[in-house]
Amino acid sequence: MRIDYGELKRRIRLIELLERIGWTSTEGRGDQLRGPCPLPACSSRKGSDSKSHKTSFSVQPRKNVYRCFGCGSSGNVLDFWKAYRGKSLREAAVELDNT
Ligand SMILES: [Zn+2]
Repeated sequence: MRIDYGELKRRIRLIELLERIGWTSTEGRGDQLRGPCPLPACSSRKGSDSKSHKTSFSVQPRKNVYRCFGCGSSGNVLDFWKAYRGKSLREAAVELDNT
């Protein structure tokens, strides 16, 4: 099966994916939202009550990209799902295509 990564990146909205996994922003609105990092490997999760954890994860819904200042992870919706699920890029893309 051939995967069209470009088409997936345009079709899947990162903010909708985040909402689906239960993420909610704690700061910001519109072009820039911030909140706790949902990535399992994120080191900022250790101090999950700290202010830095609650705002370490930043999303730009219009550009469909994210960046975490805690674990340094950043990228597009495919990069996010790959990091969140701990899968290869191809496996992550197949999962997103089926959601
Ligand atoms: Zn993180």
